[in-house]
Amino acid sequence: MQEPIVGVLALQGDFREHVLAVRRAMNDLNYPVTLVKTKKDIEPITHLIIPGGESTVMSKLSIVHQSEENLRKKIIQKHSEGMKIFGVCAGVVLLSTEIERQSENDPFEGLGLIDISTARNAYGRQIDSFEVKLRIKDFNPKDFHGVFIRAPQIISVNSPDIEVLSTHRDVTILARNESVLACTFHPELTEDSRIHKYFLSM
Ligand code: GLN
Repeated sequence: MQEPIVGVLALQGDFREHVLAVRRAMNDLNYPVTLVKTKKDIEPITHLIIPGGESTVMSKLSIVHQSEENLRKKIIQKHSEGMKIFGVCAGVVLLSTEIERQSENDPFEGLGLIDISTARNAYGRQIDSFEVKLRIKDFNPKDFHGVFIRAPQIISVNSPDIEVLSTHRDVTILARNESVLACTFHPELTEDSRIHKYFLSM
């Protein structure tokens, strides 16, 4: 297998925490971890992380960032060439095919790279953020500490090609298809690097 070349989309959100989480997951193996801000940065990347933050803001930035052939198109193109993508929280919204509860002023189109419908801010406001112990399919039985911050909900999984890896109160919170991993909570905010490791092995 080719060694992963990891990129973290660094337009907005908690991308620095993902860089540290990837380093932890690699056990200090010195594979490159790059911040991706332009089309050029994404060229060598085999594994892209789209972090949490504000999906409306990230969507705007990736569309207007480089006028002619924008970053959005480049992500879609690289995905079609085999790049793996890990979306966290706002990143899940950006990757989905259908988005509910859009902001009236800033509606945007998902990348459509995993066939799920998401609802933004579906657990409520910032104050309704929460932490909970989770179980993840095929992981060792140790609980995973789930940190949900103004999280979206995956309200439907629309393809048989998608595997649901974890649910909380009957809502899908971690799912994958062949090339995209979608996680509505924040593993980069814990010391537990099992989900980042899982992504690197995709
Ligand atoms: N509510 C944010 C959004 O939909 C996501 C919050 C987060 O990424 N922690 O853009």
